[in-house]
Amino acid sequence: MINMISDTVTKPTPAMLDYMMKAEVGDDVFNEDPAINALQRRVSKMFGKEAALFCPSGTMTNQIAIKINTKPLDDVICDIDSHIYQSETGGYAFNSGVAITLIQGNHGKITAPQVIAATKPGFDWQPISRLVVVENTCNKGGGSFYTLDEIKPIAETCKSKGLKFHLDGARLFNALVESNESTEDWGTYFDTISVCMSKGLGAPVGSLLVGDADAIREARRFRKVMGGGMRQAGYLAAACTFALDHHIHRLKDDNDRAKIIGETLKPLSYVKSLKPVHSNIVIFELQDDIRDVDFIDKLKTKGVLAVPFGANTIRFVLHMDVSEQMVFDACKILKGI
Ligand SMILES: *Cc1c(COP(=O)(O)O)cnc(C)c1O
Repeated sequence: MINMISDTVTKPTPAMLDYMMKAEVGDDVFNEDPAINALQRRVSKMFGKEAALFCPSGTMTNQIAIKINTKPLDDVICDIDSHIYQSETGGYAFNSGVAITLIQGNHGKITAPQVIAATKPGFDWQPISRLVVVENTCNKGGGSFYTLDEIKPIAETCKSKGLKFHLDGARLFNALVESNESTEDWGTYFDTISVCMSKGLGAPVGSLLVGDADAIREARRFRKVMGGGMRQAGYLAAACTFALDHHIHRLKDDNDRAKIIGETLKPLSYVKSLKPVHSNIVIFELQDDIRDVDFIDKLKTKGVLAVPFGANTIRFVLHMDVSEQMVFDACKILKGI
């Protein structure tokens, strides 16, 4: 099977498993897991921040970020396609008691003038604008990504308006291998950053939230109340450390392979539209007379797995368990369907 359902479907490599087995572990609720402490130190340093927190999922790191950056009755500003709005079960309202103001961005990307327009003046019948969240890469935007030149004006706007700024960097490394920007530079613009290790980096579990020491101290309390205080989870942290050591540079391959699939799809008669391919995600719309579920079933019989991604829309995601040969095979299948 050529499984392009998501970049979360990867399984640990033998080398990663071997490294995990050798981890030195302890009880992390007491801060005594050496493998977790090492990972948290490393990731905080990568972003030039004081601290980081290892969590079971990117949903949890985002939810904790919203919690520590807001109070109930505050307002969060983000793109309408954001993961925090679309794919976290409405957690912003449930966990943090906040409202949300949605921006219609350009393939998931928002701009400083849009943030200014979305900021509420602060009448007492309104929620108080408190936090801006951007996503990089933008999943529902088709893997589009921001460069720092685009982030800077948004960060400046946040500063001048007293807004906190959070980055949902689930696939940040897929962007950075394209833009050649550094995690350290990215770290200077945000209050908190979430990165996923279980997407393209290929770890089985794990996300980190990065921020200053006070923010991460608060974050630890909310991780605990959400049930995310883990014990000898250093085996999982070791997988993340291995992923950072070995799997960042290869993300370029996934991005390039997504482009190959995009180029293959573009001229095909059943493709109505294709989002520009910028990283490891390919999103395309089928002609009106083809149902997404039928198309996906047909692909499945030929050995290719994908997911429906909105009305008559299909998503492929490239990752380390899809080889170059598998991409060529998938292209042949797509042309023949
Ligand atoms: C996958 C993802 C997350 C986190 O998802 P989990 O499955 O909870 O780890 C957050 N943001 C974006 C944009 C994602 O794609």
